Amino acid sequence: MSRGQQAPTADVYPEWVPFPTDNQRVREVRALGFGWPLVALRSEVWTEVGASRPRLRGAVGEAPRAISRRSYPVGLSVWPVWPGLVVDTGLYAAVAAVPMFLWPAVRRRRWKREGLCSACGYERGGLPVCPECGRRAHQPPERTMGPACAPEPISPTGSPACHRAAAGV
Ligand SMILES: [Zn+2]
Repeated sequence: MSRGQQAPTADVYPEWVPFPTDNQRVREVRALGFGWPLVALRSEVWTEVGASRPRLRGAVGEAPRAISRRSYPVGLSVWPVWPGLVVDTGLYAAVAAVPMFLWPAVRRRRWKREGLCSACGYERGGLPVCPECGRRAHQPPERTMGPACAPEPISPTGSPACHRAAAGV
C-alpha cells in the first residue's frame, strides 16, 4: 500500500468527525460541518452495510433529493460543535454590536448639532430643559435676562419677577 492509499486516522480529522467502531457494519460515514470561520453545526450521513439508503443523523427537515441534487440526504444540521459555535456566535455578536453602539452616538451628535435635545431629539425651543424628557441642555442657552434674574425662582404666575418688572407690571 502506497503512502497515499493509507486509511485515514482519527488524528488527521477534526474532533467532531465520527469514526465507526469495528463492530459497526458501516460502508460509509459522511461528516457534514457548517459554520464560518469555524464549524459550528454538524450532521452525519451513515451508509450501513445492507441498508437500502443512507441515513441522516443530527439534522432536521431532510431536503427532497430533487432539491438537494446530492447522492446522500441533507437537512438542517443541528448538532453543535461547541468551540466553533461559541467562537462564531461571539464574532457575529461583536460585528452586530458595532452599529448598535455607533448609531446612537452618531444620532446624538446630529441632534446636538441641530440644537435638539441630545437625549431624545425633541425640539427644545431654546429652553434649558427639554420639555419632552426633562434633560438639561449640555450648554445653557443664551442669557436673555440680566444677571439678577438668573437665580430667581419662577413665580406662581409663571414669569420671573424681573420680567414682570421689565414689562412694567
Ligand atoms: Zn429630551
